[in-house]
Amino acid sequence: MNRMRMFLIAMSGLFLTIGMITVFLFQTQLKEKEADIPAFYQDVVEIENPASFRALVNKNYRLPADYEPSDLVLLDVPLYNKDKNNEANYLRKEAAHALKNLFEAAYNEKGYELIARSGYRSYDTQVMLYDRYVKEDGVEAADTYSARPGHSEHQTGLTIDITSDSVHGGLTETFGETDEGKWVSENAHRFGFIIRYPEDRVDETGYQYEPWHLRYVGTEAATSIYNDQLILEDYVLHVMKQMSVLWD
Ligand SMILES: [Zn+2]
Repeated sequence: MNRMRMFLIAMSGLFLTIGMITVFLFQTQLKEKEADIPAFYQDVVEIENPASFRALVNKNYRLPADYEPSDLVLLDVPLYNKDKNNEANYLRKEAAHALKNLFEAAYNEKGYELIARSGYRSYDTQVMLYDRYVKEDGVEAADTYSARPGHSEHQTGLTIDITSDSVHGGLTETFGETDEGKWVSENAHRFGFIIRYPEDRVDETGYQYEPWHLRYVGTEAATSIYNDQLILEDYVLHVMKQMSVLWD
């Protein structure tokens, strides 16, 4: 009997120890995971390669305030706002050309008509927008849907918000569920674009799912990002780092 009791006590002790180790390991893992996620707008780095097609612009990497792309061209695709003087209708030359090819492929392969809504946005425009949002909603809320000046990808001239008549020209999550939106998500990489803020990486990008927000990175990077289900952060900070081409 004594031996049985001793055995039971030993077993409970063993299970307790295993339980504690499991909890400890789980907590350590959680902490490591948290450490992977940067604190937004802290330790901000000003990037040295603003003109690179792979320039990383997010809540921790910022463009110089005076960065203006030198090769902006008027888009030659259906426009939401037809004013040719509107900076939102401009993109850098290579991205504008790639967008035209993407739109033409959507039409030729599927009969889908896409509309370009918002491309280049200058630093000054972002200052105006962000200030207005902060006045209306406060900093915390504004930060969830608008970038602080210097932190908007639209300032690169490589980013475009697109839409279609099936969502009445809106920039809305439902675009991702339309035939056009699905086709874009599966084919944009062929033309060098990525869906920059995917549904399953919100914690890391700091942005809600934006199926309408495309970023031009070139076909090689876009295909790798698409095939391996990466975000630009993964590609620039890990894949490119391994290839030692961080600042091209
Ligand atoms: Zn956008």
